[in-house]
Amino acid sequence: MLVGVSPTLRRAAVRAATAAALAVPAALIGRAAWGIPASMGASRRRLRPLVTGSPHFSEGKFCNTVATTTMQPGSTGDFVREARKGRRAGVPSSPVPLVTPQLPTEAAELAVTWFGHASALLEVDGHRVLVDPVWGERVSPSAVVGPKRLHPVPGPLEELPQVDAVLISHDHYDHLDLPTVRRLVREQTAPFVVPLGIGEHLRGWGVPEDRVVELDWDGTHRVGGLTLVCAEARHFSGRGLSRDDTLWSSWVVAGPRHRVFFGGDTGYHPAFAAIGAQHGPFDLTLLPVGAYSPQWPAIHMDPEEAVRAHGDLGGDVFLPIHWATFNLAFHPWAEPIDRLLAAAARSEVSVVVPRPGERLDLSTSTPTTTDWWTAVS
Ligand code: ZN
Ligand code: ZN
Repeated sequence: MLVGVSPTLRRAAVRAATAAALAVPAALIGRAAWGIPASMGASRRRLRPLVTGSPHFSEGKFCNTVATTTMQPGSTGDFVREARKGRRAGVPSSPVPLVTPQLPTEAAELAVTWFGHASALLEVDGHRVLVDPVWGERVSPSAVVGPKRLHPVPGPLEELPQVDAVLISHDHYDHLDLPTVRRLVREQTAPFVVPLGIGEHLRGWGVPEDRVVELDWDGTHRVGGLTLVCAEARHFSGRGLSRDDTLWSSWVVAGPRHRVFFGGDTGYHPAFAAIGAQHGPFDLTLLPVGAYSPQWPAIHMDPEEAVRAHGDLGGDVFLPIHWATFNLAFHPWAEPIDRLLAAAARSEVSVVVPRPGERLDLSTSTPTTTDWWTAVS
């Protein structure tokens, strides 16, 4: 209500306020929507003809080998209740301590640098493999809406040394990030080795054809002295309304002397044991431990299942991923690590929990972990 001004002025003020009120959301919506079609990747129409030959593609979509629902039936009420109480607990109470990555010019026999969430740089038998690199601010099709980083990136992408391959596990935004891909096209010369279908997203984003290698489960690609194996995972895919048009996977990185398993994003599944028997044992496993919920148990392992998977794979050192950086579920921020350490102690599994950006050289011994997360949780 405007008091003490003429009706003409009042009308003008109301018009201006209305225009401003309308302009702000319009600008916001415009910004939120900017770039969305590009970041959503290739359409189903473009993807389908390329992937129909896979034995894991049936009735128009990729399928898990075990029956998998993304949401438990009838859990919408629980979801809303959990969402109300859990969103704030998933955020650390003070800044997450970061380490500026110190990367040697020569790659080590066995080392890993974790950048947060599922992004890591592996050094295996003198070669480097970058996995699920996400340097963007939000894991969302929009630049202004969607889950935002809980800590900054520990170091610039441009400071990474040249890698031998970039591995992608699947096309969800927290694993495949358009701004990061564009920067890697400029900064690196390595191929992107990806599950079936994801190549079409990459080509659409300017990755040259000779830098795209697409594999089905059990497919392999040699790079340097390493064999990269696309391994079965239990998950789903999609960057828009359409689902499961591209494949999801874990990865085996096998050198002549060391072997690493990168889980990506997966529920617990029986094929871990077969992968362990065929490609293990593994000197190091990177397995997802966060973003679990009783509402979606089939597609994200909880920490206890991750320890079981590590055992099935024949893993030695366990490095937890898929936590700390984005709030994607309703559990408290550090709960994945507390539960993981308890389960690992019961099974006598050695766990390393680096700070984001910290490089661990595992060539000679397993570094001991000091608790840095409780103070900020
Ligand atoms: Zn995912
Ligand atoms: Zn994920």
